[in-house]
This record gives sequence, C-alpha cells and structure tokens, in this order.
Amino acid sequence: MEKTRLPWLEAQLVSLLAGRERLAHALLLFGPPGVGKSQLAHDFGQALLCESPASGGLACGRCDACGWFAAGNHPDWRRVAPESLDAASGGDATDDGEDEGSAEAAAPRARAGRASKDIKIAQIRALADFIALAPHRGRRKVIQVDPADAMNIPAANALLKSLEEPSGDTVFLLVTSRPAALPATIVSRCVRRPIQAPTADEATAWLAADSGLSPADARTLLDAVGGSPLRARDAAEPAQGTAYRTVMEAVAGIPDTRLQAVVDLLSRLDPSGWLPPLQRWLLDLARVGAGSAPRYFPAQAKRLAQLAGRTRGADLAEAGAWLAQRGRLAEHPLNARLFCEEILLRYAGCFDRADRKRREGQR
Ligand SMILES: [Zn+2]
Repeated sequence: MEKTRLPWLEAQLVSLLAGRERLAHALLLFGPPGVGKSQLAHDFGQALLCESPASGGLACGRCDACGWFAAGNHPDWRRVAPESLDAASGGDATDDGEDEGSAEAAAPRARAGRASKDIKIAQIRALADFIALAPHRGRRKVIQVDPADAMNIPAANALLKSLEEPSGDTVFLLVTSRPAALPATIVSRCVRRPIQAPTADEATAWLAADSGLSPADARTLLDAVGGSPLRARDAAEPAQGTAYRTVMEAVAGIPDTRLQAVVDLLSRLDPSGWLPPLQRWLLDLARVGAGSAPRYFPAQAKRLAQLAGRTRGADLAEAGAWLAQRGRLAEHPLNARLFCEEILLRYAGCFDRADRKRREGQR
C-alpha cells in the first residue's frame, strides 16, 4: 500500500533517529489521535532495521530489510495490535491503532466478528521467543505495541516483566493517544516521546492538497473531526458501497423514521463508519440552510432542503460543535449502542426544538 506522505512527521522521525545509537529499550510515542503516530512508529522501526540507512539514519527503501519490512515480514519486527484492528486492516502496520489511517475507512465496516478490541496476555506471551532469540539480521529487534492502551491488565503485567528485564537488543515502541490510560509502572519504564500534531495551517494545507478540497472546506472538515488530519482525510474520501448508502439512507431518514431502528443499524458498525458521514450530513444541512448547494450529498439536495427548513442554523451549529467534541471519544465508546443513541438523539433534537419553537411562535 502506498503511504501518504505526512510532512509534519518527517522532522519528528529525524529527531527520533538522532538518538538511535543510544536508544532506550522502550519508547512511549504518544500524542493526539489521528496524527500518524502508528506510521511514525512503523517508519522508525524500518529505519532502525534498514541495512544501508541514508543520512540521518532514514530507511533506504531498497535493501533486503526494507523489502521485508514493506511486505510486513521482517524477521526482527513484530507488531502487536488488537485482533479487531488486525482483522480490519489486514494487519497493515500503517494505521494509527484504533483511530487512524486506513483502519478508519470511509465506507463503514462491520466490527470484525467478535474479534477482541483488547491486546491480550497470549499476544504478549507469544513474544517471549522473539525477545529471547538473537536478531536474525542486524543488531536489533523492534516490537510495536499499538495502541498500547488496548492492553488489558494481564497483558500489561506480562509486558511489564519484559520491560523490567530488558534484553539489550529489543526495542519496544509503545504507541498511544491515551498515555494516562496506561499503568504508571509501564510508563515509568519508557522514555516518553510526545508526537506533535501539525498546526491548523499545516493540516489545512496538507488536507487541501491531499483531497482536492478548497482550503476553506478543508478547515471546516478538520474542525468537524476535532482537528485530526487523518480522520479528516478519511472523511473527505468519496464514499462508496452499499453499506455506506445504507448508513446514509438511515441518517437521511432522521427524524421521520423510528430512531431506535437507526440506532440498531448504526451501532453494529464501528463509529468510524457512521460518525464522519453524519458530520458531513450536518455540514451539508447547514450549507443548504444558509442557501448554498450541498457539498457532500448533492443527490440528496431535496431531502436536505426539506430538513433544513425544519431546523435553525444556530441549532445545527451547536449540534455540530457538540458532535465534534463527542466524536473525539469515539475510538473508545464504553457502550457502542448508548454512544450511538446519544449522538443520534442529539442530532434529532435539532428538529424537535425547532418544530416546537415554530409551534410556539404560531400560537
Ligand atoms: Zn533499507
């Protein structure tokens, strides 16, 4: 898979690599969701294992090690992720754990069966031989644990043992957007490396170039997804597929359909499958309400106009801001159904209130 260049990561990668000669045996790479932390960890691992690194230690992209790395089968590299993510992304190491890159596909995907969202103790124990054996090729082995906060308590305890008795040639890269969710005992054994998000201007310029949106629309979309560039990119992708159409039909039906039926449908999907489309729908509703043409759903112009006439711009703006804020919690909803219901009730509330106010005004 061709990876998109994420320019704000480049200097950060070079800075990580500057310390490669006296590298700690465990690094905690943490930062906001959707900024490319997983890709950075992946690129860092590749550079550490590259057999003819370029200046600054960057991976050459041409040696045997880089070839195996690209194919996902370098013998000195392991990536530990929840089963659900591996099933969804084909084990590709370019997603930022639970919330970034292609794992957050524009078209909704059903949760991968009953695949666990936890990293389990068996997955950590399975690393024992890898840790104990000498590297196959170079001087090091690298293990990316991503997202590290997905480890359940037994898994975290098992990892702690490895961190307490470091083997000199194994480097752990723990990736998380929620460092506070990790046990303090783990964090204290890692060197903490904050990963910075791009500035709003950098993110806007990148998104506009990547997606073809105007800078103004790119900024609006970034705001709608809480500022995360990778989420915004996924939200900007032209969505296709029957599952996506089903989602959009269900969303377009609100508030005239039975809300619980929509909750039933959407809560079976990962929030990344329905939340960005709902946010785009809201943006279009606001556009149409303000007299502009819909940007994302031109085919639904009639329905959008009908709905826009039943609500107020201020209510939509308020709901949009609320949704963007709640959306940031979407990667770990405690209860997928309640989360979905809360979001949809809030959206449907835009119409209830407006209808009520109108009725009151007519009295
Ligand atoms: Zn190389």
